[in-house]
Amino acid sequence: MLGILGCVGYTMLPGAGAPLLSASTGVLAAALTVAGVRRNRPPDPFAWLVFAAGQVTWASGDLVYALNQMAGRSAFPSWADACYLAAYPFFAVALFRLGRGRRPSAGRIIDAAVTFIGLGLVYWVFVVGPIAGDGTQPVALRLVMMGYLTTSVILIAAVGPILTRTRHSGPSGWLLAAGCVATLLGNLVTSLAPASMTWALPWAYAIFVLTYLCWAGAALHPSSAAPHDAPERTGPHRLILPATATMLVPAILFLEAGRDPDHIDTIAVGVGSTLLVILVMARLAGFVSQVQRQSRQLEDLALRDTLTFLPNRRVFEERTAEAVTAGVRPQVAVLDLNGFKDVNDRLGHAVGDQLLSVVARRLAGSFDENGLVARLGGDEFAVLLPDASPEVMAGIAERMTAALRRPIEADGHELLVSASIGSADGTGLTDPVELLRRADLAMYAAKGAGGARHRAYSDDLDRCAGEEAKLGAEIRTALDTGQFQVVYQPIVSLPDGRVVSVEALVRWRHPVRGFVSPAEFIPVAENNGLIVELGEWILRTACAQAVAWRRDLGDAAPERMSVNVSARQLAEPGFAGVVAETLAWTGLGAAQLTVEVTETAVFGGGQTVQAVKDLHELGVKIALDDFGTGHSSLGLLQTVPVDILKVDKSFVDSITMAGRHAVIATALIQVSNGLGLQAVAEGVETAEQAAELHRLGYRLAQGYHFGRPVAEPDFAAARARGALTR
Ligand code: C2E
Ligand code: MG
Ligand code: MG
Repeated sequence: MLGILGCVGYTMLPGAGAPLLSASTGVLAAALTVAGVRRNRPPDPFAWLVFAAGQVTWASGDLVYALNQMAGRSAFPSWADACYLAAYPFFAVALFRLGRGRRPSAGRIIDAAVTFIGLGLVYWVFVVGPIAGDGTQPVALRLVMMGYLTTSVILIAAVGPILTRTRHSGPSGWLLAAGCVATLLGNLVTSLAPASMTWALPWAYAIFVLTYLCWAGAALHPSSAAPHDAPERTGPHRLILPATATMLVPAILFLEAGRDPDHIDTIAVGVGSTLLVILVMARLAGFVSQVQRQSRQLEDLALRDTLTFLPNRRVFEERTAEAVTAGVRPQVAVLDLNGFKDVNDRLGHAVGDQLLSVVARRLAGSFDENGLVARLGGDEFAVLLPDASPEVMAGIAERMTAALRRPIEADGHELLVSASIGSADGTGLTDPVELLRRADLAMYAAKGAGGARHRAYSDDLDRCAGEEAKLGAEIRTALDTGQFQVVYQPIVSLPDGRVVSVEALVRWRHPVRGFVSPAEFIPVAENNGLIVELGEWILRTACAQAVAWRRDLGDAAPERMSVNVSARQLAEPGFAGVVAETLAWTGLGAAQLTVEVTETAVFGGGQTVQAVKDLHELGVKIALDDFGTGHSSLGLLQTVPVDILKVDKSFVDSITMAGRHAVIATALIQVSNGLGLQAVAEGVETAEQAAELHRLGYRLAQGYHFGRPVAEPDFAAARARGALTR
């Protein structure tokens, strides 16, 4: 510090002392810059070397000036000025290189141009204009003065990106900037105060010595090694500078009009503002196309499966419908992996996901015809050929089977999968749902016939395909055409008969078969995975109904809603998340929802038990359904977080018989009380059973005696029937 002050003091001395000191500082600064490069190893050493060359050139100007002083020559401009001016291109090139990061966006470049033009206009009108128009000075002198000012403004412009590029440009960047500002200051002093040059010059030299020191410091500081490609800063503050710059045009006009309305530099202002308008328009156009691009990306995201990036079911159904209405020859194939569930259960979902991604790639790569491969969900994929023959589709099915024959490597495991493929010819069909049903039916037939094969739909399939295959295909159709319904059965408290909860049970009204029992189709839906989609719909419907009752009936509404969930649903990754979303979407509290799981569903442990734990974490109550009928009912109570035991109907049936029959029901209520759980007696059909259960200690019961499952239960009637008369 003392050294710096000393140097500054010395430059104030008259004669050649100041330029001589400046020259030696310049050479020293160049040497220090080279030393800094060797020590810090910055990413662009060449830029710093160019900088050092500039410093040496500048110092040579100092030397020439000192020699002139000693020889008593004081002409301005002189050869010294030529040397000084020659240094600026070095500085500018070096600074541009140092400010060059990752390629700036077009928007960035326009912002910079707007700022540059706005500030340049001010500079032109207020600095260059007056100097150029000053007829009292010789032309050479005016040119040199303008040269100094212009080049130092360029340095400021060049140092800007170094400061704005990175989040922390570091002391090195700030020292470079300080040097550039000092240069501009020094040049303003020498150029704008020529008349009083005698006192101004030593100050100018002091400033230039400081400049040398700042720049040497910039090269020596370790932050000069910071990488150039730090990310651009983003956010609304980025627009402050260009926005201010555009406001400069009216500001100039006001100032000029106030100062000298007859001599407004209309050409400069006109050209400047025209350029600004063009640039701002370009920037706006950029914004518009960016918004369009982003909305296209969003749309694309909604139509793609996030795991495999294949189009999703929605797209597939839309395109199939288009192909069918176009009246050409659409071919559809549905493909289901064999043994995928096993991979998921054994090796976990991460491996399952990898497997699906590879399968998706292989399927997509196995045909080049003008067709569509989509992921319908789970391990189900589909192919649509909008206009082709069944033979072409058979060829593709053959190629897809072959593509899956090679083992798939996922997370270090060699996996072998195969696919059951069913295809259907849509020629002459008018209903896309029917086309998909046929492909589904053929797929189930292929599966039934032993898995890894292709089966094309034919009329006789409808006649003689296995019942399960038919049902499976029809569940799909039922889902698409809204044949399912949810009914609700009261769960009452004893002895008052108050309906505290309801259990949601699904019903299927088939247009031809009539009523199909869930006991019949739920296992089929579990096998083909459709239970996942069906179950989500049931959950959503039931939760929404619970909220609607609360809204319409107030306190007369049941407090809780019970929904049955099958093993396959629990095994689906992110099931607890789906439940949480449904609760949020319908507005039902987690504590108002009970999820009923069967013992067999959670018996296997693993993912299903984890899903139950996640649900419990959410605050959802867990009921073990059909309790007492599984292999290890009591053991499960230790591994699964359970709140409610639903004692199976078989133990209730025998309760009023004489002898040992009530023993199990009694034991179960004791277990439940002992563990602090609630027990619900299922399948209560008579008033005697209800009374006996109450005597044994049961406080909750469900069954035809209190009410059958119906779409709109009559809670008051259930209560009247349910209250025990003593
Ligand atoms: P669950 O969960 O044990 O449901 C109770 C079943 O017993 C229901 O049969 C109900 O109608 C019947 N039930 C109720 N009270 C009585 C009674 O007093 N006497 C007799 N005989 N039966 C009674 P449902 O609706 O046929 O359902 C059968 C099974 O199908 C259910 O057993 C459940 O495991 C499954 N299920 C039903 N709906 C759904 C659902 O929405 N999702 C899932 N995943 N499974 C469901
Ligand atoms: Mg149940
Ligand atoms: Mg049950």
